[in-house]
Amino acid sequence: MPELIPVLTKNEIDAMVTGVAHRISSDYQNRTLVLIGALKGAFIFMSDLIRHITIPIQVDFIGVSSYGSGTSSSGDIRLTKKPGIELKDKDVLIVEDIVDTGLTLSYLVDYLESFGPKSLKICTLLDKQERRMTDVKIDYACHLVGKGFLVGYGLDHAENYRHLPEIYHLKL
Ligand code: 5GP
Repeated sequence: MPELIPVLTKNEIDAMVTGVAHRISSDYQNRTLVLIGALKGAFIFMSDLIRHITIPIQVDFIGVSSYGSGTSSSGDIRLTKKPGIELKDKDVLIVEDIVDTGLTLSYLVDYLESFGPKSLKICTLLDKQERRMTDVKIDYACHLVGKGFLVGYGLDHAENYRHLPEIYHLKL
């Protein structure tokens, strides 16, 4: 049986999400902010984050997949859903659940730059720096994590565990 080892509690996640939402609200005052959540992993983080943002924003999602059913990035990144709203001359913030090698984000940055945004920044809930393979710059990282595969709060393993309200290390 896979083992779930607690990593972050609901209260800890709430504090991080509220904190980063306040930073974003202050940094983007009087701007035209569009948040783009990376599906599917970021959908819960995104939905909590936007409810703590206090400035006018627009919200959209982009679909990317790179893991299949394994626990390490295949590096073969596929776009499964394009953004549906105008990004030209907007301040765009990519919202990710976790950055590991950085390959997915590099792909997303290149792709979204092609729409001509006024600015493009990155917010991630979890930052797994140890395995980074790109020099992608993360503007808002809520929490640094070490090696290991995490699940819960939107993060899956083979589409399981996304619904768990807390974050766990999955030991297979
Ligand atoms: P990267 O391209 O940076 O290696 O991986 C980014 C994507 O891989 C994330 O958006 C996430 O979907 C997935 N990922 C990376 N690390 C983990 C992890 O520890 N757990 C889960 N469930 N997904 C991960």
